[in-house]
Amino acid sequence: MKILVPVKRVIDYNLKPRVKADGTGVDLANVKMSMNPFDEIAVEEALRLKEKGAATEVVAVSIGPAKAQETLRTALAMGADRAILVETDAEVEPLAVAKILQAIVAEEAPGMVVMGKQAIDDDSNQTGQMLAALLGWGQGTFASKVDVTGDSVAVTREVDAGLETVSLKLPAIVTTDLRLNEPRYASLPNIMKAKSKPLAVKKPEDLGVDIAPRLKVLKVSEPPVRKAGVMVGSVDELVAKLKEMGAVA
Ligand code: AMP
Repeated sequence: MKILVPVKRVIDYNLKPRVKADGTGVDLANVKMSMNPFDEIAVEEALRLKEKGAATEVVAVSIGPAKAQETLRTALAMGADRAILVETDAEVEPLAVAKILQAIVAEEAPGMVVMGKQAIDDDSNQTGQMLAALLGWGQGTFASKVDVTGDSVAVTREVDAGLETVSLKLPAIVTTDLRLNEPRYASLPNIMKAKSKPLAVKKPEDLGVDIAPRLKVLKVSEPPVRKAGVMVGSVDELVAKLKEMGAVA
């Protein structure tokens, strides 16, 4: 079975995003970019499935600018077998990403698509669900455990009431949650090896997908600055302060 892993190049999760002065978006000039953390978890899970013998090939795919090749090389250095870049400098919304992935699925015929539950830049949490709908496949979202047996996959999901396990017939979509695994680091020899692994480049037009945006961002703004807290020395002082503020009678 082949596993397709979509990976997105996003602002590094350690950085505090700065909003552009004109409020049109986040300033990405000279900002460190990395693989979306949930996608690293997806790559790791696909590699573990291959190591267990449940998969034979792991293919990473990214939709984005030429620089997204770096993200794909990271996936290759972790252990993915080959990569596909669907190159565009345009902003690609989740529906367009899902349509591009649908076209890649038609070409590659994977048994599973393992992807992040959300990209940390836009926090859309839409692409996996839309892709499942477009393909008519089952979906196991927010996976904290994945078990492939024969032609089905059991996906354990963290829900409010505890853990829910669903069984899906393959092919299927799985989206990863934070606790699924801890992604490996790429070793230096593997980073070197990744440079010669195959990376194909396509354009959205080659796949016949219209990526014109359906949404218009009206405004992006910084969250309001939080007021500093006050340290109190005792419960009495706390109650007095709360009374002063009118929070208690
Ligand atoms: P989202 O719906 O945007 O929150 O993204 C959910 C998941 O879809 C991500 O974790 C990725 O696995 C995948 N994805 C979204 N955008 C892209 C992209 N431009 N390239 C590759 N994968 C993507």
